Amino acid sequence: MINETYRTMLGKKSVIRELSELATRMVGEPGGPAEIFDYSLGNPSVPVPEAVTEYAVRLLREKPSLVHGYSPTLGIPLVKEKLAASLSRRFGLPYTGADVFPTSGAGGALAHAFRLVTEPGDTILAFAPHFPEYRPYVTLAGCRLEVVPADLKAFQIDFDLLNQYLTKNVQAVLINSPNNPSGAVYSAETLTRLAGMLERKEREFGHDLWLISDEPYREIVFDGKEQPYPAWFWPRTITCYSFSKSLSMPGDRIGYVAVNPESGVSHELAAMCGQVSRGIGHNCPTALMQLIAAECCEMTADLSVYETNMNLLYDGLTGMGFDIVRPGGTFYMTPRAPEKDAGAFSRKALEYGIVVVPCDTFGLPGYFRIAYCTDTDKVRRSIPAFRKLMTEQYGY
Ligand code: PLP
Repeated sequence: MINETYRTMLGKKSVIRELSELATRMVGEPGGPAEIFDYSLGNPSVPVPEAVTEYAVRLLREKPSLVHGYSPTLGIPLVKEKLAASLSRRFGLPYTGADVFPTSGAGGALAHAFRLVTEPGDTILAFAPHFPEYRPYVTLAGCRLEVVPADLKAFQIDFDLLNQYLTKNVQAVLINSPNNPSGAVYSAETLTRLAGMLERKEREFGHDLWLISDEPYREIVFDGKEQPYPAWFWPRTITCYSFSKSLSMPGDRIGYVAVNPESGVSHELAAMCGQVSRGIGHNCPTALMQLIAAECCEMTADLSVYETNMNLLYDGLTGMGFDIVRPGGTFYMTPRAPEKDAGAFSRKALEYGIVVVPCDTFGLPGYFRIAYCTDTDKVRRSIPAFRKLMTEQYGY
């Protein structure tokens, strides 16, 4: 037999990937737009730091048996210790290597975190707008994904709605700040109120509630600010991190799970990750990438271009009438589409060479996502194309 679940999924390709492939095909098409502004994919546009490349080459040359050998099931101990020490230094929580588990990016980290604190049939609660891949990640872990509708004013949390959605069947609440796609950064006030609600609901339900915090954009925060660290606010927090965006290396697949040491069960949960890995055949990320992560975990690529691009787009687009919640971080923003159907808007935008993604699959119908991880001159050149689109199609 052939598995029906996965077979049915074949017909439901990611809209982001489809648009990005379309943009690639459109380049240089006769009669097509003069230039394509591909804002579809969240692929970092800045180079990997030179120090990372140099370290990788050195490891390959000088430590071949370490780099090419199997890594221990729970990850390389020295790597875990270095990651934990960095987390402790930066965020003041007493992490040790036994709280950390290296994974293949944030996707791998989430796959482990979900399985640590749920049984099949349980509900995981997320907030709109959300990364569309949460749906397959959660459902193929045997759980149900429920989504709290968005707080459209600021893309923080609508606590009245959360109160309704946080039912007894929920075992874990999944947050993502800085957020893909809105760029919102949860404030300390939001995280404090969230923790307060988790505490009340735990008492009411008589079971633990886990916070799973997906943080691949932790380092991309604007206006000189920082993301308040979610684990500060709730002891039962599992942090899922990735170096995909901070070091500009999504293809290298490296991240980690870090269980809050204040949960009282962090060593057990991190050790259970090794068993989850056995179950899903994940195994550890490459030894090479683990060693690089440990050495380079406090570096970032030059992320400043994202803020420059955000300001250009925010000023340019709000100036021509778009309604946008100003992003606090990431390299995304979600303007409201000038017509109800954001898919129809995206198709019209294509005629002007602008590739943007309707946010329906992010749980935010009527909005579209701009992934502005591209070069700044291109962003500048795209503003007149947006203006032409708005004038000719919407009479602005
Ligand atoms: N979570 C969010 C919110 C993302 O945007 C992404 C990737 O774009 C991921 C998880 C997956 O990250 P990784 O490539 O590190 O697996």
